Formats: sequence, C-alpha cells, structure tokens
Amino acid sequence: MKSEDIASTWYDYFVAKGHTKVPSASLVSPDPSLLFTIAGMVPFIPYFTGTETAPYDRAVSVQKCIRTEDIEEVGKTARHGTFFQMCGNFSFGDYFKAGVIPMAWELLTSPTEGDPETGLRGFGLDPERLWVTVYQDDDEAFGIWRDTVGVPEERIQRFGPEDNFWNTGQPGPGGPCSEIYYDRGPAYGADGGPAADEDRYVEIWNLVFMQYRLSSVQSKSEFEIAGPLEKQNIDTGLGLERLAMILQGVENMYETDQVRPVLDRAQELAGVTYTSTEDPEDPNHATDVRLRMIADHTRSALMLIADGVRPGNEGGGYILRRLIRRVILGMRLMGVEKPVLSELIAVSRDAMKGVYPEVEANFSKIAQVAEREEQAFLRTISAGTERLESAVSTAKSSGAPLDGADAFALHDTYGFPIDLTLEMAAEAGVAVDENRFRELMTEQRERARADAKGKKSGHADTEIYRQLLADTPTHFTGYTEHTTESHI
Ligand code: ATP
Ligand code: MG
Ligand code: MG
Ligand code: MG
Repeated sequence: MKSEDIASTWYDYFVAKGHTKVPSASLVSPDPSLLFTIAGMVPFIPYFTGTETAPYDRAVSVQKCIRTEDIEEVGKTARHGTFFQMCGNFSFGDYFKAGVIPMAWELLTSPTEGDPETGLRGFGLDPERLWVTVYQDDDEAFGIWRDTVGVPEERIQRFGPEDNFWNTGQPGPGGPCSEIYYDRGPAYGADGGPAADEDRYVEIWNLVFMQYRLSSVQSKSEFEIAGPLEKQNIDTGLGLERLAMILQGVENMYETDQVRPVLDRAQELAGVTYTSTEDPEDPNHATDVRLRMIADHTRSALMLIADGVRPGNEGGGYILRRLIRRVILGMRLMGVEKPVLSELIAVSRDAMKGVYPEVEANFSKIAQVAEREEQAFLRTISAGTERLESAVSTAKSSGAPLDGADAFALHDTYGFPIDLTLEMAAEAGVAVDENRFRELMTEQRERARADAKGKKSGHADTEIYRQLLADTPTHFTGYTEHTTESHI
C-alpha cells in the first residue's frame, strides 16, 4: 500500500465514523509555545485545553510533523524521522475509551479490499502480530482490549507513567495512554513484547485518553490528579511512515515510497551501495545510516522550506540550516564535493507532490533557497578544509586529540563551524579538545565585551563588528553568505 493510500484509507475510515476531515496545519507550529508542529494534536490544543470550543465533536487529520528531538536516531533506528506524518483521530467530549479502542483495532485489521459487511477498507494487519500496552492502573482500557476486542492477556502489557501517561508539563488536562505495537518477528529481536524490545516490536499508534485534570505536574511521572475532566477527550497518533514500512514490506521508514527515491539518488551520486543493514558491526553500516539520514533530512528541508521556513541563525531557521548542512556533509563524507541539494530536493519533491501539491507549485523558490544555502556552506567548507586536514594529521601522528586552539582558529578565521570540525575529525578517528575550544570562545567573548567598555568612542563601529563576531553562537557561525565573507 502506497503512503498516499494509507492516508486516504485513514480519512475514509474516520469520515465514515462521523469525523470531520481537517487538513494538515503548517509545520510552523500554530501554538506559540512550540517551534514546530510535533504531533497531530498541536493544531487542536485550544480545544483540548478548553480555551476554544471545537466546531466539531470528532475530527480526523494526517498532520505533517517535525521532531528534532529524534535527530540523533535518524537512520540508526528503523523508525525515527525528523519529518513524518501523524495520522490522528480526535474526540472532543464525544466518544472515549470504549469508542476509540474497537475502532483502532477494526481499522488496523480489516482487509485492505474492504470489510465484507461494512465495506470499510482497513490496513489488513495480522491480529496475531499486534501487541498493546496500557497505563499501569488503567483496568478499564485493559478490559476493553481483552473483553471487547479479544486481545489475549499475554499480549497486553502494563507500562508506567514514563511511557503511558500523557501530560503537557503544566497543570491542566492529562491522562493515560494505550499504545499499539507491531511484531516484526524473531529476526528483529527477542521475544517478550514491547517491554522487551522496541526495535522488534515497533510502536505504531498511541491512543491518549484525556481523562483527568492535573493540579500540579513536576515531571513525566510525578503529578497530582485533581479529578476527572468535565469533558473527556481522545487524541490519537499513528505514524504513517511506520505503517508504510510494515505494509510495504521494507526494513525501515527510509525505504518507504515517499523517502526511498532520495536515498537511491544519493547512492547514485556518491557511487556507493546501500545494503539496508541495521547491524552496527556491519562494515557498510555507517554508509547506510548516512544515506538514510540524507534521505530523511532532504525531505524535512523540502517540507520546511515549502512551509515558509528560511535558513537562519536561530529558531526554526537554525534547525533547517542544520538539516541542510548535515545532508551536504553526509554527501561530502562519501566523497561528493559538488552541489547536490537541488537534485536531491527535486527527487523528494517528486515523491511528495502527490500528497502535497504545494511542493511542486512553489518549487523554483524552494530550490533557490536551498541552492543559496548550499553555495554559502560550500564556500565555508572549502576554505577551512585544508587547514582542518593539516590539524587532523598533526593530531593523528601525535596520538593526541585535535588541539582546541586549531578548532578555534578554524572557527574564527574561516567561520568553520565546530560541529563540522567534530564530524570531520571523528571521521578520521580523531577526537577534538572541545573544552579548550569552549574556553577560547568564552575568552574571546569576554575580550570583546571588555574592549567595548574601554573604548566608548573612536572605534565604535569596529567594536560592534568584533562583538557581533564574538557573540555569534559557535555552532551557528560563519555559514551565511554574509558572515562567511566577513570572516574571510
Ligand atoms: P517512539 O517511542 O518510537 O520514539 P513516541 O512514543 O515518541 O515514539 P508518540 O509521541 O507516541 O511517539 O507519537 C505517536 C506516533 O507517531 C508513534 O506511535 C509513531 O507511530 C509516530 N512517531 C513518533 N515519532 C516519530 C518519528 N520521529 N518518526 C516517525 N514516526 C514517529
Ligand atoms: Mg519518541
Ligand atoms: Mg514511545
Ligand atoms: Mg508513544
């Protein structure tokens, strides 16, 4: 089943169950406390907190999401993207646990060609492969799974608040969750359900039961329940890519139809071979991880630019910049030094435009943003690379870490970002004396401040310039066209 069909099956099912179809909101979070939309429920926050009344009792969406907290997992696990789509169904004071649990089961297990009685299409998953978790004392959810749905007790596990209790971190709504996992089989890990192995048993769907009013929240696991919510709500999230990986019979989400074409183009451009390994001991593992990361980040960059984010030094702009730079670095670490971004982004556009026509309609603008960013970064890289290489070989021959002063000089003179230094040094098997680097950065900042105080007149403009350079956060420095040129 193609990703597009997963989305349409999702919508059709919940629309047939009386839900209003709500289009995806922007990746730029409509909620001011978040940078990006990180879950399907984000556009509905005012309805859940009660500051606004929902215009419908039931809603269904397929929401574009960005989760930067997962960036280090990308390509290493089978299931974490920086961009992904969360399929959600929502009840605003309407159905609760006994409504949502049987629907979730029916949708996952009904045949893809349609249920003979209801005609509703499902995802055709083998019920024997599904496991569920509930919150430790949620006997109600446990009972519905076991008695109404018929899941054998052995495949229902009770989890604590770290995993299965949702709260916002603030006093307000909160409640237990129940999650559905898919067993990929013994080739992927030990028996024992999700409690034993989250790589073998892949979490696909989270059902959140907004049940209580919390009077205080100290952490994920410490909170006080004041009482039941007047209006109990349902918020669910199913990872479209995770389901696609299962339904398409591939090893991970980066091999699904909306992502794989970029991975393929990256391997072609680099002249390497993707082997689909998850084994860190495998000699091709680093290359595979890199290709998966490149495919993921390229798509994230495309979707972010399409939603109006521009590379910059702070906030969402910085995240976008970092994603783009990781793609370029990843390609470079496989020996590709020419510009690649516009080509990769065009492949991603073709994979995404069926669902998101805006990526095609605005493509020339999107490509221009990406190309400019790449050009600026490539200039920075080429200026610093020679210097870095010599510092690396000095470090290698002495057996000591790369001198923090060299990393600082690279940053200061070439605008060579510290994370590039770290990554390229690591690639050569050399550590970097990061503490020394940070010390020098701090000293420079303090010097600039002292200078600015000491010379109130005369050199005002150069002082401001120096201060600006010194105060630019280290990992952001030197890769906009402007600052790169000032540094060189
Ligand atoms: P995990 O434990 O695997 O990191 P999660 O518990 O953080 O997932 P939820 O916050 O419960 O995920 O989000 C709901 C659903 O969204 C998940 O069950 C999963 O299917 C999907 N999902 C979450 N994070 C990602 C991601 N980074 N990439 C792809 N899908 C994701
Ligand atoms: Mg997670
Ligand atoms: Mg989880
Ligand atoms: Mg979860």
